[in-house]
Amino acid sequence: MHWLTFTFLCALALQLAVRIWFSRRQTAFVMAHRGEVPPAFAGVVPLADHARAASYTAAKQRLFVLDSALGATLLLWLTLGGGIDTVGDWIGRTGVAGRFKETLHVLGVFSVLGAVGLPIAAYRTFGLEQRFGFNRTTPLTFALDTLKGWTLAAVLGGALVALVLWVMASAGPRWWLVAWAAWSAVSLLLMVAWPRFIAPLFNRFSPLDDASLRERIEALLTRCGFSAERVFVIDGSRRSSHGNAYFTGLGREKRVVFFDTLLSTLSPGQIESVLAHELAHFKLRHIPQRLLVSLVLSLLGFALLGWLAERSWFQAALGVTNPSNATLLLLFVLVSPVFTWVAAPIASGWSRRHEFEADAFAARHSSAGDLADALVKLYRDNASTLTPDPVYSAFHDSHPPPAERIAKLRSTFADGGAAR
Ligand SMILES: [Zn+2]
Repeated sequence: MHWLTFTFLCALALQLAVRIWFSRRQTAFVMAHRGEVPPAFAGVVPLADHARAASYTAAKQRLFVLDSALGATLLLWLTLGGGIDTVGDWIGRTGVAGRFKETLHVLGVFSVLGAVGLPIAAYRTFGLEQRFGFNRTTPLTFALDTLKGWTLAAVLGGALVALVLWVMASAGPRWWLVAWAAWSAVSLLLMVAWPRFIAPLFNRFSPLDDASLRERIEALLTRCGFSAERVFVIDGSRRSSHGNAYFTGLGREKRVVFFDTLLSTLSPGQIESVLAHELAHFKLRHIPQRLLVSLVLSLLGFALLGWLAERSWFQAALGVTNPSNATLLLLFVLVSPVFTWVAAPIASGWSRRHEFEADAFAARHSSAGDLADALVKLYRDNASTLTPDPVYSAFHDSHPPPAERIAKLRSTFADGGAAR
């Protein structure tokens, strides 16, 4: 057995084992704390809601383990099981050839992944989310969303794959550098275009114009040097009762987006504080920082891809008997996560630091007390667990554990941080 085959099998087994171990830890910890609301939330989050959040967390973890096991099995089939070759044969039988065939080969493998994942996605919406009372998606909306998502992936993904394959074939020995430049340009373009052209295909975006809010929102935006045309509300309630707010876009296309479901439960002061938190991600330049890191990491990725392209053992050791540029790309994209997941705690830790920074910014420019109250509502209404396992949370969570986050805000509040 080639050393890479062996390493890949070990890494895949380790990844699955660690995922299951983490998942069990999280479920056990959450269930052990099911019977008592943590002190920081006593009186605000009823025990019944707290217990329901625990059951919801456990149910999500069970689905996650099933999904991980299915993903690992599918990856084994695609690689050592010869699945990538098989899909290539299917595409070859249609009579297409050349770069078009290679592009279809890549899309074909992702279609298999999408098709196998579809029952899980359907169960998540109509089983899990339905059972806990969150689902509002109709089967028709689900079907249309899936269709739109796949069409978009085929068109945009297909164009990007075709571009990279063309560069690989025609840009000489340093093709990986050219491919990285093309990849980066397309990623930047998508970041700018996504909020304006693509997100509206799925949701309706309307301006946040509530008379009772407008004055204080505009005052906050002026204080933070942001324009009011950049704050939107989306009709998230069409699909789910989960509420949230997020920031997106780049340059002149940056936006803060509120779900209507969140907006309807918050007071004007709480809305302002959540907006201040989201604005902080722009003001503190979190987006360019993340972008820079992802550009550097993708450069390393393309350099490695360029090196692997010259190593005939790479594809052979991972089960491809009929190698091409398409299978090289496929293997690289499918197999890298089996090794890169170990960096998850670094990414999560960095993200949690950004969240704390954004909370501190919101406390300075709006109200720490209002933000804390808004977060408690968000946790309660989304049935987010208030008691995550500390080890699980440190590894996986992009946001700080609720108790820690609220405690930090409350102490700022006590220090007079709420003063404008
Ligand atoms: Zn945030």
